[in-house]
Amino acid sequence: MSDCIFCKIVKGEIPAKKLYEDDEIIAFWDIDPQAPKHFLVVPKKHLAAVAALEEGDERLAGRMLRLGARLAAEHGVGDFRVIFNNGPMAGQEVFHLHMHILGGRQLHGLG
Ligand code: AMP
Ligand code: ZN
Repeated sequence: MSDCIFCKIVKGEIPAKKLYEDDEIIAFWDIDPQAPKHFLVVPKKHLAAVAALEEGDERLAGRMLRLGARLAAEHGVGDFRVIFNNGPMAGQEVFHLHMHILGGRQLHGLG
């Protein structure tokens, strides 16, 4: 997707503060953090949202979760929140699948 901001980060066309990268996943700090520790775990392949996951993507989705937990621990975040926004009504603004990990402060409610 040539006009997708996260595809551009994956390709290195836009800078990001990366925590992690391998052949299928990249993780970087959110540019507008909503908590002291707020990063995004993003598959390199373009999928619009959770609803676009297909048969065969189970391993990728599971890896995103495990990686998010591991990176949180590596950055001293014991308790954290995992968020996937799916669609505009849910607050999704970037239409390339991403998992938010937020921590480092007391979190309340779900907004
Ligand atoms: P969502 O509302 O779930 O689509 O979340 C999109 C997230 O991407 C927001 O938290 C933004 O702050 C974040 N974001 C947008 N552009 C960038 C960027 N260039 N680098 C890092 N995070 C970004
Ligand atoms: Zn994309």
